[in-house]
This record gives sequence, structure tokens and C-alpha cells, in this order.
Amino acid sequence: MVNLVFLGPPGAGKGTQSSYIINDYKVVQISTGDILRSAVKQGTELGKMAKKYMDEGKLVPDDVIIGIVRERLKQDDCKNGFILDGFPRTIAQAVALDAMLKDDLNISLTHIISLEVDDNLIMERLTGRRTCKGCGKVYHIKYNPPKKDGVCDDCGGELYQRDDDKEETIAKRLKVYHEQTSALKDYYKNSGKLYVVNGFGEVDDIYRKIKEILG
Ligand code: ADP
Ligand code: ADP
Repeated sequence: MVNLVFLGPPGAGKGTQSSYIINDYKVVQISTGDILRSAVKQGTELGKMAKKYMDEGKLVPDDVIIGIVRERLKQDDCKNGFILDGFPRTIAQAVALDAMLKDDLNISLTHIISLEVDDNLIMERLTGRRTCKGCGKVYHIKYNPPKKDGVCDDCGGELYQRDDDKEETIAKRLKVYHEQTSALKDYYKNSGKLYVVNGFGEVDDIYRKIKEILG
């Protein structure tokens, strides 16, 4: 069983690695960033509210995010395992996650993987990131380019640069990461399920290390 939490700064490669894991382990990926971007695209109340925070590189309020994850984890497709990508991001979210897993769902996390890269790599990774408008697949203009410029290999969708993948917002997100999210490693330290993986290197090599952990 894989009930995984992916920790790590923006740009560490969590989304990239998750796409491999969901294929091999037949689990679902729950990316709070993807859920919020989809709400923004659809113009829902949640989307309108969240966009203000996202554009400023700030975290969306805990109660909103916790509510989203609680509803998502209740769905049947999570029963065979899941990856939480981008959640939790604060201690309050981690505490709420523990409570909902234990009290509502009667399951527990199996692995917490902290994917770590140096700050100085993150700017290049995120300014070069391109995302598919159709399916959300992630590329990099230098490290993981599509076969045809600006077009998704998988679905033919148009690639775009996320609003928050601009230099100024990236710097703010990184600051928020250090202030609020990096402490989560400590939170999970004594769980016996925390694994640290170096996120610098070839995508395939990193994935091999992750597979060793997940078994
Ligand atoms: P990245 O993949 O670059 O780390 P995400 O796609 O996970 O970024 O998140 C994009 C933005 O969505 C964040 O900067 C934040 O505003 C919001 N967001 C996503 N997940 C959370 C969360 N768990 N708590 C609060 N805000 C979140
Ligand atoms: P996260 O979900 O942690 O924010 P992503 O998976 O979206 O990170 O990766 C951020 C950017 O870095 C993307 O453009 C991706 O193609 C690229 N990337 C991911 N893993 C690597 C790697 N091992 N080496 C170089 N670039 C990478």
C-alpha cells in the first residue's frame, strides 16, 4: 500500500515524480495546487478567492485547503492508495491530516518522502517550467522539453507558463516554504516513515531511489 506525502520546496520535482508513481503503483495523485488551478480556471468562488493568494505566492488559508483535502480523501478512488503532493504545507494542515486519516478514514500514511533541492536550483527550474493547459503535464524548456515546442507530447495541449512561475513570485514562495513548510520534516521525524531523497540529478535516477523506498 502506498499512502504517500511528498514534502519539498516548490520545484523539487514532486509533480514530475508523482506522475511516474501513479503509473507504476496505480494510486491517485492529490495535488492541492492542481485542484486550486482548476478552480481558478473554472471561475468558481473558491478559484476567485484562491487566486489572490496564489498570485502573491502566499498560502491559501488552512481551513479552505483542509476542507478540500478532506472531501477528496473520502472519494472511493483513494482506497487503493494516494500521493499527497503539495499538502500539508503547514503544521496545522499536518495535524488536521492526521486527525482525518485516523478519525474519518481509519487509515495511516505509509511514507513521507522529503524531496530536497538547493534554493539556487529552484529559480531555474521554475522559470523554465511549462505546464500543459489540457492535462497538466509538466515540462522544462531545458531539462525536459516537449518533442514539439509549446505542445504537450501526451495530449497535444498548449503549454503555458504558470502565473506564479515568475521570478518575483518564486522568491516569495520560497520564503513561505522556509517559514512555514520546511518545519514539516521535523513534524514527521519520529514517525519512522520519513525518507529524505536528493532531488538533484536525472529524473530517472531519482525515481529509482523513490521506488526502492516504496518497494
Ligand atoms: P509547486 O508545485 O510549485 O510547489 P503548487 O502547485 O503546489 O506549487 O501550489 C501553487 C500555489 O497554490 C501555492 O503557492 C499556494 O498559493 C497554493 N497552495 C497549494 N497547496 C496549498 C496548501 N497545501 N496550502 C496552502 N496553499 C496551497
Ligand atoms: P514541484 O511539483 O515539486 O513543484 P515539478 O515536478 O513541477 O516540481 O518540477 C519543477 C520543474 O523542474 C519542472 O519544469 C520539471 O520539468 C523540472 N524538473 C523536475 N525534476 C527535475 C530534475 N530531476 N532535473 C531537472 N529538472 C527537473
